[in-house]
Amino acid sequence: MAAPIALSLIVPAYEEAERLPATLRHAAEALPRLAATSEIIVVDDGSRDATTTIAERFPSPVPLRVIRFAVNRGKGAAVAAGVVAARHPYVAFTDADCPYDLERLRAMLATLAAGEADIAIGARELAESEVNRGYGLLRLISGRALSLLTALALGLPFRDSQCGLKLFRAEAARRLFAVRTIDGFGFDFEILTAALQQGYVVRRFPVRLTHDDDSRIRVVRDSLRMARDLWRVRRNMRAGIYAETVADGPERACPLCGGDACSPVAAAHGYRMVRCRGCGLWYLNPPPSQTTLAHLYDSSYFASPAAHAAGYGDYAAAAADARATFRRRLALVNGHVGSGRLLDVGAGYGYLVEAATARFPERWIVERSTAAAARAPQDVRVVTGTWEQVTVPDCYFDVVSMQDCIEHFLDPLAALAKARAALRPGGALLVVTPNVASRLARLQGRRWVSLKFPEHVVLFSPTTLRRALEHSGFRIETAVAAGQYARLDFLASRVASGYPRLGAALARVVRGLGGNACRFYAPSGSIAVVAVPS
Ligand SMILES: [Zn+2]
Repeated sequence: MAAPIALSLIVPAYEEAERLPATLRHAAEALPRLAATSEIIVVDDGSRDATTTIAERFPSPVPLRVIRFAVNRGKGAAVAAGVVAARHPYVAFTDADCPYDLERLRAMLATLAAGEADIAIGARELAESEVNRGYGLLRLISGRALSLLTALALGLPFRDSQCGLKLFRAEAARRLFAVRTIDGFGFDFEILTAALQQGYVVRRFPVRLTHDDDSRIRVVRDSLRMARDLWRVRRNMRAGIYAETVADGPERACPLCGGDACSPVAAAHGYRMVRCRGCGLWYLNPPPSQTTLAHLYDSSYFASPAAHAAGYGDYAAAAADARATFRRRLALVNGHVGSGRLLDVGAGYGYLVEAATARFPERWIVERSTAAAARAPQDVRVVTGTWEQVTVPDCYFDVVSMQDCIEHFLDPLAALAKARAALRPGGALLVVTPNVASRLARLQGRRWVSLKFPEHVVLFSPTTLRRALEHSGFRIETAVAAGQYARLDFLASRVASGYPRLGAALARVVRGLGGNACRFYAPSGSIAVVAVPS
């Protein structure tokens, strides 16, 4: 005998005060016959009518919860909120005007419970479906057009991606809705596209419509939106955003605001960068494990042959440029703290402390790579280990520097709090980190050089960096665009990381010009911030 079935039913509802009671009565009656345990989750998608009140007052024999959006966000967002809230191992959703006979979930549940599929979708085109096939000609044509387009653009083999009765294994639903980018009706084909990309088994089932289908869909406007969503899903699919991740850990909440709603922005090497819908922080989700990170930062990190995949091609060769870059960045703190004790976190070969010799008689570095730390100057205090684990004196340093460093921390707030603790009163923190809102980031899109998977685990904008600093007890004194000194051949190699052919052509031109002779200061799409304890 199989384990008893437990089912969560999600009912997204927008301005459904009139039709919702009949839907809830039908669900409350059908669910106990379908599952040993069940719940109903009504998601009021920002209705201005009495939808929430009606749902809350409904005398349901089945546990019923109501989630309410302050503003209308769309059916995709509503179902996604229900998926996050669902407590049972099977999750279904249906339309609030419920034209679907929920009894049809019985065969779907049996198939999923037998392990024969991960997702069961209603399919109105199946001969066994009982539907009113007489709906308007326009609707019929647009429905056909959509099924053709989803087949051509996304490779979906389902004629009826939009059917309002679908059942998921809860774990599959959570993984799929985690990569959703579309709030509106297009979420249906987005989820199915992601399901196929991730290798889930999807089965079609006949449905029975109990009355006429929703008449609220406006053909022209909704067709335009569908076309736009279709384009976006196709682009995401080609960018690998829906593909299964190799990341070892579970999904995680935003490390800045704790929110759990996010949408993917880019993916590569089996990792996915998402944007928090609450605060806008970009972070890898799921994150790489500590083991993966430790392996990443082993001794080869600073002299890796896979220069643009991880680490630096030949970090030492660019030493002079690095020192000049750091000298220029250090000038930013001069207006606040010009001298004293300096700590550089994530110091690499120690070029920043070299550049700081004249002004800072006492210099410390923290570096997790022992091979890199071994190359630091003799008169520098070297602490090897990860910033999270090492011990440095509290209230001691005049300047703490984090150069291209904070984006590597799974918990950037803890890293900043530790920097705050190390600073003496009146000291200053100098942070340089990639800026997702920079012109370079916008221009390069998902080929942006600072999208390094998986070493950059968080990426900031001026807004999110400010929030992180303020949360960690800092006040921003200076924030400017940061650049770096570079030579033409280095720039060609950076271009090659995003555009291999263009980069190779550029490298030939640069060699012809006499290569690496001239040095110049180029914007790097980063932001430099000086912050002081608040
Ligand atoms: Zn957030």
